[in-house]
Formats: sequence, C-alpha cells, structure tokens
Amino acid sequence: MKITELVQQVVARKIKAREQVEASIAKARDIKEYHALLSLTEGRALARADEIDTKIANGKDAGVLAGVPFVVKDNYLAFGAPTTAASKMLEHFNAPLQATVVEKLEAAGAICIGKSNMDAFAHGGSTENSAFGVTHNAVDTTKVAGGSSGGSAVVTALDVVPFALGTDTGGSIRQPASFNGVLGFKPTYGLSSRYGVVAMASSTDTMGCFAKSADDIALVTSVMAGRDPRDMTTLPDYFEVQHDVPKNLKIGMIRETMTADVDTDVRAAVNNYADRLRAAGHTVEMVAMPSIKHALAIYYIVVPAEISSNLARYDGVRYGRRAEGVKTLAELYGRSRGEGFVTENKRRIMIGSYVLSSGFFDAYYLQAQKARTVLINEFNALFEQYDFLLMPTAPTPAFGIGENTDDPVKMYLADVMTVPPSLAGLPALSVPAGTSTQGLPIGVQLVGRAKSDAALIALAGSMEARV
Ligand code: GLN
Repeated sequence: MKITELVQQVVARKIKAREQVEASIAKARDIKEYHALLSLTEGRALARADEIDTKIANGKDAGVLAGVPFVVKDNYLAFGAPTTAASKMLEHFNAPLQATVVEKLEAAGAICIGKSNMDAFAHGGSTENSAFGVTHNAVDTTKVAGGSSGGSAVVTALDVVPFALGTDTGGSIRQPASFNGVLGFKPTYGLSSRYGVVAMASSTDTMGCFAKSADDIALVTSVMAGRDPRDMTTLPDYFEVQHDVPKNLKIGMIRETMTADVDTDVRAAVNNYADRLRAAGHTVEMVAMPSIKHALAIYYIVVPAEISSNLARYDGVRYGRRAEGVKTLAELYGRSRGEGFVTENKRRIMIGSYVLSSGFFDAYYLQAQKARTVLINEFNALFEQYDFLLMPTAPTPAFGIGENTDDPVKMYLADVMTVPPSLAGLPALSVPAGTSTQGLPIGVQLVGRAKSDAALIALAGSMEARV
C-alpha cells in the first residue's frame, strides 16, 4: 500500500494510528534475527499514535503522514531511545533534542517506532562495523545488508515500516537500497537539514529515505525538505512533487562505470533499464566521464579529513563515553577514544589527521579538493547535454558477511559508483532493477543536476509503471 493510501485510511478512521504502530512493532520483533534495529521507541510511539487518533476523532488536521510509522538510523537524534550511532562512544547517549527532519516528520503526523543498526558513525558499506553486531540482508541472510544505513534498508524491505531514514555521505542510502531491493534516495546536498544528526563528513552528509515506491520517496522528501536556520548549508525549499510523466529526456550512461570489472549481472540490469528508458521514449547514450576513476581516491582523502575533525569532539569530557580510573588528561582522551571507537573509525581518524597535517596537506588534501573540482566540472558539462545520468549503484550485488572485512580497500571499492555524486552534491536515487543469477537484488542509480530532485524521482516513478 502506498503511504498516501495508508494516511487516507487513518484519516477516514478505517484503521487507527495505534494499530499501525502496534503492527510495525510486532513485525520489528518478528525479524529480530536480522538485527536491523538497535532499539524500539515503543512507549513514545504509542503515546504519539493515541494523540494522532484523538486529533482525527476531533476532526483536526493530523498531517500528510498521519499515523505512518517509520524508523530512523541510529545517528539521528530522536527521543524515546538512546542515539548511539552504533558506537560504544554514544552507547548511553540520550539526545536532548531531535533532528530537524525528525521534528518535521513528526509535525506531519509520522511516528518513529525505532532506531536502526548501522556502521559505527556511518563509516562503512556493510553494517559490519556496528559496535553492536552485524545486520543481515533482507533477501539472503548470509549476505551483508550493505551500509552504512543497512538496518533502515532491511526494515523497509521486510515491510516493518513504509519508510525509513538513512544518511548518505558516500552511498550509505543508495548502496543498501540496491542490496535489499528497495528505493533509496540521496537528495541534493542542502535539501534537508543536517541539524541533529551525528556528523560524519560535513561537506557530503545528506539526509534521505528508503521506501518501496517513487511516490513514497517524493512524499517523505517533500516533508523533510527545506531551509533550517540551524543548518546554514540548507537551501530554501525548492522541492515540489512532480506528477507529470517526464518525456523525451536525454540520459547519459557513464561508460567508465560499465567496464568488465563490474559484475555481469549488474551491467545487464543497467543495460536493461536503459532499454526500458528507450522504450518509454527517452534517449540513452554512452558518455565519457574520465575523472570518475579518481572519485574514490578523492573521497577517501576528503572524507577522512572531515571525519577526523568532526570526531575530535568526542574527548570523554563533554559527552559520550568517559574511561574510568584514568590518572592524566592524555590518558582520559586516549582511553575514552580507544574504547569508544571501532577500528574503522580509528583508521579514518588517522588517515584524516595525516592528510591534514602540515607536511602533507598540499600533497593530499589540497590536491584532492582540486581533483574534486575537476570532477564537479565534468558533471556540470554532462548536465549541459543530458537531463540525467545512469550508472550502477554498486559494482556487485550484496557480498557475503565477512567476505571483505579483512581488506579495507576491497570494502572501499564497493563505494566506487556512489561517491561521485556525493562529492558533487548531486541528487541520486537507487531503484530496484532486477536480480542477479543468484537471486540477489540489483539497483541502478539515476543521478540528476543539483536541485532536480523532484524530476529525478518522477522519472523513476514513471518507469515503475512500465515494468
Ligand atoms: N561506504 C561509504 C564509506 O564508508 C559511505 C558511507 C556513508 O555514506 N555514510 O564512507
């Protein structure tokens, strides 16, 4: 059922918000073995559901998402359960405020029922870096859920909730969406507020959602969007749900993302989607984007640099984990951070500190920022000729649990398709586009120019009807 239909039923009092919430919580308990959720916000969710039911009974407007249960990734500050970012550092952190987008969704009547598992501090692409255990893929439990927003993808795929929030810094919504067979949307940088979400890399962090249809993605995004005085990088709200079927679009398929080292089934899915776009009257052409091969290298310099700076605040003094029985301040910092961070967090802090250090800043960080500008210029040039770009979401379907854990570079390679739009701040949507020969879901990625979010989602929606 589409979210709008669900809301209509709640508003028409055919079904109660409370029943919706109870059903979601029961499903969440049913799928415990996937380890997709870190906590349930049951008490608060039921109380909010009752409030909404009362509002409706009194004939009041309960909002465009009245009574719709949802899940947030555990790096969103939200009431009702701790906000851990799946780390020991924040294991007992109860947020004193809620993220702007959570507030907005609540104001529209949506009800948060729980918080999902993720790679600690969102560093990863498999949800194996969680300090609290691995999340299993919704389709094949021997495979990873993808990440870092793996838990949110899995609860959407298994119909625990109609939508879930993730964060996408370099692919953390799109890649798990692809691995679990749902839609995952990373908006234009600045469309939705970052306020109240645990920071990873401030120049590419975006707040987006998972759902099972383009209409649902559009509706949820329309509520999340907008300028927030507490996040100075947010844009004035330009997002307007587009209902017209897009026609005669020019779509570029990036040649460098369709090479022989990309899984055959993945390439077949992209080619098949291109054929379907053509059948719908659009033009699809191969285009070159030479700098895309440097995107991963750029990302793994710029992002760790920002991580090392953002994670400096966890010093064991102000909030978060504080080591016991220490004698000196240096020991307090060292032990608190040593206990609170997982290996991948530490790796990134070290890389980031290194590339920002005085002797290496010019050679690495500055060089990476220059290369990032080259990449952005190439995207801009392509968008002068093409409306949208098409490429795989990930080079492979979901990989096995444990398969890449010993080799960080192999793990980073899974991000090769998702980091380019992130570095350029562009909107990108992963849509389900078939299955591998092993039966695993495969997603394809549509990328638009900045602020084309609504048109991008509309294109995906128009294609759903044509399966
Ligand atoms: N997998 C990517 C990384 O590890 C993306 C993470 C994210 O988007 N939060 O950095």
